[in-house]
Amino acid sequence: MPYPGKSPHRPQPHVEPKFPLYTYYCICGEFVLVCNTLLEQLAQRPMDHSRVLRCLDSSPGEGGQRIPAHIYKISASQGPIQVIQRDDNSFERQYMFLCTRCQLPIGYEHTAPPLKSGGKFTFILPGALSRQQGLAPPDVLLGEKIQAT
Ligand SMILES: [Zn+2]
Repeated sequence: MPYPGKSPHRPQPHVEPKFPLYTYYCICGEFVLVCNTLLEQLAQRPMDHSRVLRCLDSSPGEGGQRIPAHIYKISASQGPIQVIQRDDNSFERQYMFLCTRCQLPIGYEHTAPPLKSGGKFTFILPGALSRQQGLAPPDVLLGEKIQAT
């Protein structure tokens, strides 16, 4: 049954998204991520400084407010599973994903592939992605300074 006011035969007008979209590339130049939020504006995970993309809306907090999920799409290939020992001696399983061209690690999730298939978050490794194709991101050296000698 058609929705009221919508004809299945009439083409829908092209609607521009109401939010900006930012494009990110691997340091090899391969397109990896399009996202409605700048990476530097995302929360940073204290454990490894990765950026946190939210796959699902949060549970309601005080006042019933929810943090909405980010809108994003990732082009990557599946990588190895890493098991990390946290500071509290618990273990964390990380399903890595890699650049489809150069196989450098881009990030990880806590749930088995495919990406965004049930986990709460997608993590982007620091220094993995650049907004400018062909240019390394400013944090590519992970905070290490190159000493001029
Ligand atoms: Zn790459």
